Amino acid sequence: MKAMLLTELVDMKSHAKPLALREVPDPIPGEGEVLIRVLTCGVCHTELDEIEGRTPPPHLPVILGHQVVGVVAQTGGQETIRSGIEVGDRVGVAWIFSACGVCARCQAGEENLCEQFRATGRDVNGGYAEYMTAPAEFINPIPGELSNSEAAPLLCAGAIGYRSLRLTGLHDGQRLGLTGFGGSNHLVLKLARYLYPNSEIFVFSRNIQEQEFARSLGAVWAGSITEQAPHKLNAIIDTTPVWKPVVEALGNLAGGGRLVINAIRKEHTDQAYLTRLDYPAHLWMEKEIKSVANVTRQDVREFLQVAAEAGLRPEYQEYALEDANQALAELRQGVIRGAKVLVVP
Ligand SMILES: [Zn+2]
Ligand SMILES: [Zn+2]
Repeated sequence: MKAMLLTELVDMKSHAKPLALREVPDPIPGEGEVLIRVLTCGVCHTELDEIEGRTPPPHLPVILGHQVVGVVAQTGGQETIRSGIEVGDRVGVAWIFSACGVCARCQAGEENLCEQFRATGRDVNGGYAEYMTAPAEFINPIPGELSNSEAAPLLCAGAIGYRSLRLTGLHDGQRLGLTGFGGSNHLVLKLARYLYPNSEIFVFSRNIQEQEFARSLGAVWAGSITEQAPHKLNAIIDTTPVWKPVVEALGNLAGGGRLVINAIRKEHTDQAYLTRLDYPAHLWMEKEIKSVANVTRQDVREFLQVAAEAGLRPEYQEYALEDANQALAELRQGVIRGAKVLVVP
């Protein structure tokens, strides 16, 4: 099969084409796994973190991609039969490839925090390819309302956005801020308008186009990351890869407010900005900071259902599988309008 392979970790500043198109053997599903023919795969900022070594894959070469929509092409063994998955089913594979299922975290419904958590397209091969395998228990049915390209970005950006929004503890009518306005937060804005129709949404973004995009989707206010919003906010979700927005967001939080950081890693480039942290302005009055780590199957499945019901569709741009490097480069340069999706013929 054809696959876009990551063979070494590089800095994308000097290596604009980190992936190579290669012919590799078709994967074979093991016990409890299914073989999936990939139809679409979303491109995520986390892939840049993998390529540049901030969350490095444990083995190379590896096939990236954790927002995979495909069709079950083959099932392997008795366990897949028990899971009710059949050949021809349209399914999605998200960032959660598997978790142990027996540890205290897994038992408590926090499989996203399992120490044995395996991430799709990092710890095991993902969807930048014609085929992949995945455990039957961890793949997710795709509601019929969603097209292949619509569903792909929902599997990561959407599902983690959903988890982020839940972790804010927001109540309808409270004010929500979104810092950064790429693949995840534009979905969170749509989701928040559906789940919290009386909440005003404020967007902080680095460029005018994203600010306009946010207003067009219903934000009551959009400004730059260093601006003060016209009101203090009860919760803010930060999806940026850097530190300045964290400090600035804390300044925009109301007392008792919570900042939720939805970023797998932060870059070191502007870490010095943290020295501007001022206790009375940024943390006093019981302000909280919480990160979001991974997703559970429940997050993915609930969110896909909500998205289908709410008519929530991501804005997206399509690229051919072999143009993955271009999609990644544009993501790195911040050329973002919605989500980027690879289409596999
Ligand atoms: Zn992702
Ligand atoms: Zn576990």
